[in-house]
Amino acid sequence: MSKNSRELLQQIKKEIRETNVQDVNERIKTDSNTAVLDVREKEEWDEGHLPNAIHVPRGFLELRVEKAVDDRNKPVIVYCAGGTRSAFAAKTLKDMGYTNVVSMAGGYGDWKNAGLPFVLPEKLSKNKLARYSRHLKIPEIGEAGQLKLMQSKVLLVGAGGLGSPAGVYLAASGIGTIGIIDSDTVDESNLQRQILHWTSSVGMPKVDSARRTLFEVNPEVKVQTYNLRMDASNVLDIFKDYDVIISGSDNFQTAYLVNDAAVMLRKPVCYGSIFRFDGQISTFVPFQGPCFRCIFSHPAPPDLAPSCDEAGVMGILPGVVGLIQATEAVKVLLNIGEPLIGRYLAYDALAMTFRTLKVRRDPNCATCGANAHIDLNAIQADGCSGPTS
Ligand SMILES: [Zn+2]
Repeated sequence: MSKNSRELLQQIKKEIRETNVQDVNERIKTDSNTAVLDVREKEEWDEGHLPNAIHVPRGFLELRVEKAVDDRNKPVIVYCAGGTRSAFAAKTLKDMGYTNVVSMAGGYGDWKNAGLPFVLPEKLSKNKLARYSRHLKIPEIGEAGQLKLMQSKVLLVGAGGLGSPAGVYLAASGIGTIGIIDSDTVDESNLQRQILHWTSSVGMPKVDSARRTLFEVNPEVKVQTYNLRMDASNVLDIFKDYDVIISGSDNFQTAYLVNDAAVMLRKPVCYGSIFRFDGQISTFVPFQGPCFRCIFSHPAPPDLAPSCDEAGVMGILPGVVGLIQATEAVKVLLNIGEPLIGRYLAYDALAMTFRTLKVRRDPNCATCGANAHIDLNAIQADGCSGPTS
């Protein structure tokens, strides 16, 4: 026999558990393990919501809830405006196998009337809604993700072949602050691949040339420049302000310095290297996966690790590698997808193949192993002119 909506709601309410706003307030204060799901529409969410709530509109519940709450035994509180939609949502979650779900009776209306704390979501201004509209359409990014990117700080170690494409796309993506370390000036031989720098930039400090380009790409981005040679005396002071470090290196000393400083400060490093037609990329998140030194415990002999100046590089190669590093940086910042943690990606442009090698932490690693002892001053400086090619 078919039911009208009132009869259906009455039946649903018999099958689910409900709680009141005061109880929810007590629970979220004392139990951080409970997931709070807001199943209202976006316009309602934008008017304010419970602290730490996750927004999954009712219409997308079945599609998105597993991403929001992956453990079906985790306690879940569902709420809407008045307690009706959340009752239906609670029934759906129960049917999907969630074992510990309650619906907040009275909903956000009762919550606000009781004077309980709520947060107003930060919102993008109208011009930013337009600029980042293609990000906003992606559920994994959306407005919250874009706001996160705009609050993020990414450091480019070097404004060269890898830093160039990474910097341009990260600026376009709306990263809030991009830091750039480089002590070089732009040379004509850079222009074949270092797209931050233009013909008119030859002779300029690379950091100034980079700042000019990034401003043209996106004037909203704050560009912080460091026209200096990175060493043990300054690396920690610079790194400490950033969320992610993008680094490529054609010499082992810089790679070790970046790695060891990043492990000390627990900063993720999106690493890339290039050689003629070959690129290598990995993402080093300290203590979650191997670090650079876990994989390369000793520097290769200089004749096996020539710089781009010596070996040459196809101009387009760093574009591919630098953009994979930038992609990894966005994933790490937004905590989406599967970054290259514990994986080493090898790109062969001539064969047009990508191979992934599994890499593991070295328990005896001098940087992140059980008996690690990091001494930045012991990393020998070399005579190379810049950290990236
Ligand atoms: Zn290590």
